[in-house]
Amino acid sequence: MKKILLVEDNAANRKLLGDCLRRAGHELREASTADEGIALALAETFDLVVMDIQLPGTDGLTATRLLRANDKTRGLPVLAVTAHAMRGDGKRILEAGCDGYVAKPIAYKEFLAEVSRLLAAGEPGQAEK
Ligand code: MN
Repeated sequence: MKKILLVEDNAANRKLLGDCLRRAGHELREASTADEGIALALAETFDLVVMDIQLPGTDGLTATRLLRANDKTRGLPVLAVTAHAMRGDGKRILEAGCDGYVAKPIAYKEFLAEVSRLLAAGEPGQAEK
């Protein structure tokens, strides 16, 4: 079991993604804003952040940059969830420091495969990125 932080402002999406992650056996914390998510990421220890990009106030890319700038969360894997993946979005998302991204509407098999990939990449003993 891994501990995952889900940052998503939309309650319905938060429930769908949250249920999906819980069914996969993970412990979950949820935040509906970037500020709340960053506070949780600094207060507790996580194995992965699932980060909605479109958030009210501080957006998910800015939040990821803030996590990357902090010593405690610098190496924490971030999986971005985008409302609509347009050409060029992927590059922008990876440049902000996210480790991967999936587009809404979420294909759950693909989503869980990305979650597993990033959790495995964060295991001790794996090569540093
Ligand atoms: Mn959103």
